[in-house]
Amino acid sequence: MERVLLLNATFEPLCAVSARRAVVLLFKEKAEVLESDGGAFHSEKLTVAIPSVIRLLYYVKVPYYGRANLSRRAVFARDRWTCQYCGAPAETVDHVVPRSRGGAHSWENVVAACKHCNGKKRDKLPSEAGLKPKKRPGVPRGPATVSLELGPVRPQWERYLDYCRQHA
Ligand SMILES: [Zn+2]
Repeated sequence: MERVLLLNATFEPLCAVSARRAVVLLFKEKAEVLESDGGAFHSEKLTVAIPSVIRLLYYVKVPYYGRANLSRRAVFARDRWTCQYCGAPAETVDHVVPRSRGGAHSWENVVAACKHCNGKKRDKLPSEAGLKPKKRPGVPRGPATVSLELGPVRPQWERYLDYCRQHA
């Protein structure tokens, strides 16, 4: 089933919810539809258009955006699916200081990389391989972490996620 982007009353993206959960929020009049893509949700008695973006009618306080979980998908999202060594589309995640050389599996030591650069670098240090990330990998914080955990982004979500990107 399709996922729906849930926004706070302030239009700040909160998370992705199932279409079923979104429809429940709409029925309870806790949210309004901002975007819909033509799909429909059928129950025994009625058919409801499935939204793709909904907004809560009340404000949810999000006091603290935690550290984003380190996952392959989140690394690709942080680095915009771009090899941090050469700028080509990235297909792999590389440890800047290889694990075999004591490098940590942490946000500060992983970058998205293309197969070519990853293959060239292997278990070498950046100085040995002559490959250095164009910018220092960092820990995503703040609202930017939300967009890393949404999973695949549906086209209709894009303009609402600009908020996250501006605060990256
Ligand atoms: Zn590359």
